[in-house]
Amino acid sequence: MSDNPEKFLKQANLIAGEWVAADSGETIDVNNPATGDIIGTIPNSGREETRRAIEAAQESFESFRKTSVLERAQLLRKMHELILENQETLAQLLSMEQGKPLAESRGEVGMSAAYVLWYAEEARRTYGDVVPSPWADRRILVTKEPLGVVAAITPWNFPSSMLARKIAPAIAAGCTVVAKPATQTPYSGIAWGMIAQMAGVPAGVVNVVTGSASQIGGELTKNPLVRKITFTGSTEVGKLLIKQSAATVKKVSMELGGNAPFIIFDDADIERAVAGAMAAKYRNSGQTCVCTNRFLAQSKIYNKFVERLAEESDKLVVGNGREEGTQQGPLIDEKAVESVESMIEDAVKNGGKIVAGGKRHELGGTFFQPTVIANAKPKMRFTREEIFGPIAPVYRFKTEEEAIELANNTEFGLASYFYTQDLGRVFRVMEGLKYGLIGVNEGIITTVEAPFGGLKESGLGKEGGHQGIEDYLDTKYVCIGGLGL
Ligand code: NAP
Repeated sequence: MSDNPEKFLKQANLIAGEWVAADSGETIDVNNPATGDIIGTIPNSGREETRRAIEAAQESFESFRKTSVLERAQLLRKMHELILENQETLAQLLSMEQGKPLAESRGEVGMSAAYVLWYAEEARRTYGDVVPSPWADRRILVTKEPLGVVAAITPWNFPSSMLARKIAPAIAAGCTVVAKPATQTPYSGIAWGMIAQMAGVPAGVVNVVTGSASQIGGELTKNPLVRKITFTGSTEVGKLLIKQSAATVKKVSMELGGNAPFIIFDDADIERAVAGAMAAKYRNSGQTCVCTNRFLAQSKIYNKFVERLAEESDKLVVGNGREEGTQQGPLIDEKAVESVESMIEDAVKNGGKIVAGGKRHELGGTFFQPTVIANAKPKMRFTREEIFGPIAPVYRFKTEEEAIELANNTEFGLASYFYTQDLGRVFRVMEGLKYGLIGVNEGIITTVEAPFGGLKESGLGKEGGHQGIEDYLDTKYVCIGGLGL
């Protein structure tokens, strides 16, 4: 087994089982955010290549939909095995293109494998119903069938696992896929095409196209052969894709942005809360949709929490993600660093106090210091905007009602967290929070067995859990009459 990421550094589209360049021959450079080095290129494809990928997926669908669930479960089991066999190589590739620490990349690839296994199992449980009929001579069946060609568009922050949640349930259901990975981190996405081929998934079932987001997205949403769009990314692009999909009334699943609150009540176990806060804030340098955006600490515990969070933040080891021991990698690009800097500037101008970090890291490039800002106020930008970087603003509140109101005062509704040891409060706050994911005394909660998805403008639909396959199935009602009973 080789750990050399070159093994999965495929610089081509996968269309109808063939590895191909863009029609124009044009390419886009991909770089390593830790070093700035060019890792390779990808095809700069557009509408035409996308249309061919959709047609290949449609053609393959005609036979793939007739395969048995057992066959599809076996293909997924094979993919699961291959991912685990190549876990280290895929993790190296992920850290190389995305920048996250190897420990996180290994975890993400492990999570991808877990999704594939979960859907190998769920494939066999897509039950329909036989419903008691109101007519003596008719019978009512409710059946589930694969819906057809699925378009999957994914972001740069989890380039492996975000596609796992889409490709695995699609194959489990008997659908075929055209995937468009993020341009900054394409290789972990293209690797899904390689894994599918190695596992013996028929040609055309998994297609991957890279290049112009607006052209590829335009064709995927316009083409009537595509029956579902599943997207993970920003709320802004998600809304655009919903609009574009309206003309052909596609099913849409949207995993969009967040503005996660993390509430620490006076009665919390403070050390547990700080440990959870570190994980919920700094994973992937704060660049995840479920990362804490706003810490809300109750008056009596406020000072202690800020002090401990600042101490732990100062200890984080910042560096190249591919070096063992690194706990925080670089930000994805210079634009991300400038955005973080401007949010800090805005906070300081409005009375925020930097108690840890606050500046670019001495390593240069796009490395940034883990930053804690005390005295956070509602008028500061991060109250409303997704930070997507290593800044931890801490707001102060007095009562439970105030905490719930502050937490819900956003158009987002993805992840939320709170720490308390009072059982009654656990239920009151849990029921008061308008969020799709709630961690109670836990800072990292994603798991394949549970439905992941946001409320409000954070999204539509669920990924994972037994719910995650439903969106890939058409439900049909069949009435069989004239039975002469
Ligand atoms: P993004 O800018 O929305 O990009 C996501 C994907 O959409 C990329 O593949 C991008 O392609 C593509 N895209 C951009 N414009 C498009 C268009 N007009 N038509 C079709 N596709 C288009 O998001 P990002 O910056 O990569 O990711 C960060 C965002 O994702 C954050 O808001 C984060 O909260 C969210 N996110 C949500 C979840 C969740 O599960 N809810 C998980 C992870 C991330 P290019 O790369 O070519 O631009």
